[in-house]
Amino acid sequence: MRTSKYLLSTLKENPVEAAIASHRLMLRAGLIRQIASGIYTWLPTGKRVLAKVEAIVREEMDGIGSLEIAMPMVQPAELWQESGRYSKYGPELCRLKDRKKNEFVLGPTHEEVVTDIARREIKSSRQLPLCVYQIQNKFRDEIRPRFGIMRSREFVMKDAYSFHLDQQSLEQTYQDMYDAYSRIFTRLGLVFRPVAADNGAIGGNKSHEFQALADAGEDIIAWSDGSDYAANIEMAEALPPTGERPAPGAAYSKAATPGCHSVDEAAQKLEMPSEQVLKSLVVRGEATEDDRYPLIMLCLRGNQELNEVKAGKIPGVSNPVEFATEEEIIDFTGATPGSLGPVNFPGRILVDHNAALMGNFACGANETGYHFINVNWDRDVPKYEVLDLRNVEDGDPSPDGKGTLHLRKGIEVGQVFMLGTKYSESMQAVVMDEKGQDRPLVMGCYGIGVTRAIAAVIEQNHDERGIIWPEAIAPFKVAIIAIKYHSSQAVRETADKLYEELQQRGVEVLFDDRDERPGVMFADMELIGIPHLVTIGDKSLKDGHIEYKLRRSGVKEELDAGRAADEIIAKLSSAQ
Ligand code: ATP
Ligand code: MG
Repeated sequence: MRTSKYLLSTLKENPVEAAIASHRLMLRAGLIRQIASGIYTWLPTGKRVLAKVEAIVREEMDGIGSLEIAMPMVQPAELWQESGRYSKYGPELCRLKDRKKNEFVLGPTHEEVVTDIARREIKSSRQLPLCVYQIQNKFRDEIRPRFGIMRSREFVMKDAYSFHLDQQSLEQTYQDMYDAYSRIFTRLGLVFRPVAADNGAIGGNKSHEFQALADAGEDIIAWSDGSDYAANIEMAEALPPTGERPAPGAAYSKAATPGCHSVDEAAQKLEMPSEQVLKSLVVRGEATEDDRYPLIMLCLRGNQELNEVKAGKIPGVSNPVEFATEEEIIDFTGATPGSLGPVNFPGRILVDHNAALMGNFACGANETGYHFINVNWDRDVPKYEVLDLRNVEDGDPSPDGKGTLHLRKGIEVGQVFMLGTKYSESMQAVVMDEKGQDRPLVMGCYGIGVTRAIAAVIEQNHDERGIIWPEAIAPFKVAIIAIKYHSSQAVRETADKLYEELQQRGVEVLFDDRDERPGVMFADMELIGIPHLVTIGDKSLKDGHIEYKLRRSGVKEELDAGRAADEIIAKLSSAQ
């Protein structure tokens, strides 16, 4: 491809809207353009990368016997009503009506559609197991689209679904998928970790996420230095501490804490460390029949964080967890949120293991502007339940008893789920077993964020000059930069010849034949991240050389101008 015939679309300046490297570089290198919040066009260079990633994903899916299909993006609302998710999915689900007022949704995922296909097409258990996949645009009306295509509203997902007669068969396919995902992310050049994960709104009973390690990631993963334990922090269990609770001292008393809204402010006012102050959060319980919410108090040590996923799984607590509004709290306790505590709290009290070990602590007095000090469990709060409510922290013991936990940030690039019979039961997708009895299909589902994975690759592979593509997904393998192409006959002849030869031998080349300063051309090719850079100029041609540079290492070499194509091709195959 000659740049003179190409849509290069590189930008010199850093776009102000981009907060992380991949977003900035995808805009600057001319890969993507935003058309509306969280909605992007893929320009030619970006589309080339996307096609390569898709090809790798497709190859690995075909390799484990998954069959490619294409389901519609516009899905009838009835299917979602059948599964029960039409009301549960929330505002991320984009709902629309056609001219006849029929209701539809834009597919954020395809469990409903694929279960409908399965119940129509699978006639006999002899057809099982069956696995299908597609690579397709999804739409989720994300509350905060950000970081470019890392969290966009429209994005490309590879989604696969498998159907089985029993759990054992599902486990086999789950493992095949897990292995295929590991191969895919390795081929994309990602440093990643598979971690135990929460099933979330999708349902089911077992799941792993594939997390690309990067500081720009929105997820936190906990891993053990003494075993292969790794989990999303949402799932990581905090072991109950082994220490003893201090004996209660003097009776509790009231202290004024005017204007203190947080644990830290109260701790400062009371002149004690925040770990001696109880963090009391009030959430909604499950709605009652008359649509009211009982309020539940969650108590943690002041310096620790609530884990909302753990809280949501506690029977009786709203899931996903909803915090009580200020109005509800005042109505229920008589105090504003900064002054809450378990003493005389008129509802259920749930206490984290670690907070249950506190003695003679401070907590809100359920009276605005006041705290109690010297509070003790049992003596002052007779009724409460103790469980795991907090996020694990760096240095906590690993839940498997081996080693210590450490935290890292990750970008979720894929997730595999064992769904069980959640969708097949609600949508009556059954198959007859050998005894002639109808059994609901056992299902798995498996997603890869194809576009997000590209952002993750860039987060892990860039420098101050631009992107550094791994060979397998580079938009072009070689860049030819021809200096004074328009005025030097020697340069023109050598460059044209090299370009033709590489093209004929199947190498993807971006040939910069613009009438630009060498610095501009070089900066663009480095920004785009082409792995092998070749510069042709009069000066080195006089000695029979052209210049070669490996983008990743920056190492430069002189190549023999006459044998350049051979030498470059040798470098490409050794770099694979
Ligand atoms: P997240 O927790 O990041 O919102 P998710 O767990 O809801 O993602 P899944 O339903 O597991 O997403 O979808 C499969 C994959 O699709 C994810 O692993 C992720 O890589 C990708 N993905 C999900 N949401 C987005 C988005 N808004 N933009 C880009 N990719 C996304
Ligand atoms: Mg997920």
